[in-house]
Amino acid sequence: MTTFHKALTDVTFYPLWLDNTAAPDTCAHLVGRTETDLLIVGGGFTGLWAAIIAKQRDPARNVTLIEAGKVAHGASGRPGGIVSTSVIHGLGNAKRVFPADMDVLERLGIENLDGWRDTITQFGIDADLEWTGEMTVAVNRAHLDDLHREFALHQQHGHDAVLLDRAQTQAELASPLFEGAIWSRQRTGTVHPAKLAWGLKAIALTLGVRVHEHTPMLDVSDQGHQLRITTHDGRIDARRVLFATNAWGAGHRHIKRYVVAMRDRVLATEPLTAEQMDRIGWTNRQGVYDTRKQLNYMRLTRDNRIVYGGRIGYYFNDATDPAGDRQLQVYDRLAGYFHDTFPQLDDVKFSHAWSGPIDLTTRMAVHLQPYYGGKGVYAGGYSGFGVTASRFGARLALERLDDTGSPDLDLALASSLPGRIPPEPFRWMGAALTMRALDHVDTKGGWRKAWIRLVHRLGFPL
Ligand SMILES: Cc1cc2nc3c(=O)[nH]c(=O)nc-3n(C[C@H](O)[C@H](O)[C@H](O)COP(=O)(O)OP(=O)(O)OC[C@H]3O[C@@H](n4cnc5c(N)ncnc54)[C@H](O)[C@@H]3O)c2cc1C
Repeated sequence: MTTFHKALTDVTFYPLWLDNTAAPDTCAHLVGRTETDLLIVGGGFTGLWAAIIAKQRDPARNVTLIEAGKVAHGASGRPGGIVSTSVIHGLGNAKRVFPADMDVLERLGIENLDGWRDTITQFGIDADLEWTGEMTVAVNRAHLDDLHREFALHQQHGHDAVLLDRAQTQAELASPLFEGAIWSRQRTGTVHPAKLAWGLKAIALTLGVRVHEHTPMLDVSDQGHQLRITTHDGRIDARRVLFATNAWGAGHRHIKRYVVAMRDRVLATEPLTAEQMDRIGWTNRQGVYDTRKQLNYMRLTRDNRIVYGGRIGYYFNDATDPAGDRQLQVYDRLAGYFHDTFPQLDDVKFSHAWSGPIDLTTRMAVHLQPYYGGKGVYAGGYSGFGVTASRFGARLALERLDDTGSPDLDLALASSLPGRIPPEPFRWMGAALTMRALDHVDTKGGWRKAWIRLVHRLGFPL
């Protein structure tokens, strides 16, 4: 048995973030018939922000939110919790997808992040926020050119970022793999995502939003002037509906043409002792991404655990709760990456292992899909980068539902669709091949590089 396999033997298959006594009581499920001005389907960050913004704009508006399970039990209670300013998965992705809109998207990202932070501050949400910055570390000398190009983009757009050489990077976070880094220091850091979502739920309730948990939407029918949503024990007639259903793609059968439900796996360690912390440094506590093709991300929690994630997978038919992800062997390779990154922590055990849904699109950024003559809109597609961008997605969806005429709706990001993704069984076959290639492309190359290049040409920047 390898060291890292032993480190996994006692894990709990549950998100560390949700394994917390601060979890609030659930709201009663919906029983009976009701009407509402705005119905939000989905109690993750997108749905919660939409509920709050809608009420802040018009306190008299009747807003209802239904959630199939519990608030934050989708992606929002499961992420790494690294806070970024970008609403489009970073500068490199903005340049790839919407080069002409980069300046506007940068401005919108800053406005969004400031609004995100102000709400948290104004309502006093305790979400372990740490404004420690975000660091991208090169795990191979061959990745340094890309890192330098990324740094140049940061400079062009006036970011408070520094380029670190190998020694400087090691001084920030010691790993034999790290060859250099960019440390972006403004409007970035880490957050406890479940505590944030629970805080947002509390705000929504305070503002008068009706919240029903354990209330899955089963059917949508177009009644002409409104939509009728059927649930197990109730029915809601709504003038406008936001489908904030992430990788589930619930709301219309066409949503999944553009969104594929990936899984992303995460591990959390036991709290590190002071002596174990000394072995890695990390006194500035940045959120960290590495440059592997199957990228890994890592951050510290308030009690000095390391949350280490980033091995994606796909299950046939976009499964969003696969039993396969509750098996130890799924986390073996991720634990191996952890061990390669921090061999000096070979006495550290993992306490939690979990996975979560990623709403992957070819653009890797939020988009809108309007249905039912504009009475219903799906907002999603963050592709694993929505802790703060979800607030932007929520606002944009409200602009569209309310037909406000906001100039932001004219942006290609809001007014056009990402590339189509083939249906099953091609979806599964393509994903399986891609995952196999990604696992070894950094070390073995060969056919894997050619396949990844093809996937790039199809529009996926993996
Ligand atoms: C493992 C992992 C790591 C990540 N790390 C980061 C990170 O470090 N930084 C970052 O910025 N982003 C990260 N993300 C992405 C981020 O977590 C998501 O983009 C964000 O949480 C999406 O919020 P959401 O509200 O759109 O989706 P969700 O939180 O998934 O909410 C959707 C909700 O819809 C509900 N729903 C679905 N169908 C129905 C139905 N029929 N009826 C009623 N309700 C329904 C679901 O139960 C779910 O609660 C990560 C994601 C994962 C999975």
